[in-house]
Amino acid sequence: MGGIAKFNCLNCGYTEEKIGFGHGKHAEPHLQIYCCNRCKTVGSTWVNGDEQPRCGICYEEEITPLETKNTSLNCPRCDTLAVLAILEDTWD
Ligand SMILES: [Zn+2]
Ligand SMILES: [Zn+2]
Repeated sequence: MGGIAKFNCLNCGYTEEKIGFGHGKHAEPHLQIYCCNRCKTVGSTWVNGDEQPRCGICYEEEITPLETKNTSLNCPRCDTLAVLAILEDTWD
């Protein structure tokens, strides 16, 4: 089952609402949340099994996969500590 995450940086105001993660009826492919330092975004992309996840926007391979739990990470835009919040909503 999937969930929704929200990224919010209080310092520069960069926000990504509704970042989907997890999977639907089948285990694969699944949505992996990542942070891309090339195009400076936080988002999620579909990954199949052991495939190398790529940025959904610029196709960069050197992205940082993020945990699907509430976590703090450095904002890709201003490099200040920001929050990735996992919301209750689920989808399938
Ligand atoms: Zn920021
Ligand atoms: Zn990118």
